[in-house]
Amino acid sequence: MARSVLVTGGNRGIGLAIARAFAAQGDKVAITHRGSGAPEGLFGVKCDVTDAEQIDTAFAEVEAHQGAVEVLVANAGITDDTLLMRMSEDQFTRVLDANLTGAYRVTKRASRAMLRARWGRIIYISSVVGLLGSPGQVNYAASKAGLVGMARSISRELGTRSITANVVAPGFVRTDMTDALPEERKQQILGTIPAGRYAEPDEVAAAVTYLASDAAGYVTGAVLPVDGGLGMGH
Ligand code: NDP
Repeated sequence: MARSVLVTGGNRGIGLAIARAFAAQGDKVAITHRGSGAPEGLFGVKCDVTDAEQIDTAFAEVEAHQGAVEVLVANAGITDDTLLMRMSEDQFTRVLDANLTGAYRVTKRASRAMLRARWGRIIYISSVVGLLGSPGQVNYAASKAGLVGMARSISRELGTRSITANVVAPGFVRTDMTDALPEERKQQILGTIPAGRYAEPDEVAAAVTYLASDAAGYVTGAVLPVDGGLGMGH
């Protein structure tokens, strides 16, 4: 059955791979962008997830185009790395606002129609560092760990209405975000990954489409790592 899917930050990177994977299986897919426009073949709405008004407008546009959102993928995210001693409160709250509060805002907006439909799939793109920790990423890791508590609380609140909330925790994936890392750090990271390589965005997308499927109806509050073994044990 073709579902109405919304992927935040689906204009590039992991979000784009996720959007393309849903489109390839015949779903109706919308993505959000912050001004880049929609990639070829995808329906795009402009939306910054730090702004509740923009979120409301974007959802209304998606609803008019393809019906209420049945599958929400909260993927939009940023980093702003530095060691704790140098991290300003603004750097901390800006990352939390985009990655965690942004996810809360879009979930809240999406939940209305999901409750009415008595069906929904909510998937958060967290990170291996949310549970492992990472030096220089106190803000980012806290935001990504927060998504786990969010998904599990939503599972408890909305579980009886056939609404699931799950977390995908990627390791290092080849995108603009990781390209920005210094070469030395990239090599250092590679040495710690049991799979001995970075993930491709498609490999994260496959986990997301699984969690959104009817087959995953009894999976909720789960953290699904796609990290080549980097986070084993969490
Ligand atoms: P990119 O930097 O390539 O893309 C980030 C996306 O998020 C862009 O679409 C960007 O939009 C969007 N975005 C950022 N801030 C906002 C905002 N305030 N409102 C709306 N959209 C926003 O990142 P990736 O594709 O690598 O990452 C996607 C997700 O996966 C992120 O949540 C990231 O934390 C997570 N992740 C990534 C890993 C990796 O190794 N790459 C590993 C683990 C998790 P715009 O184009 O307008 O900037």
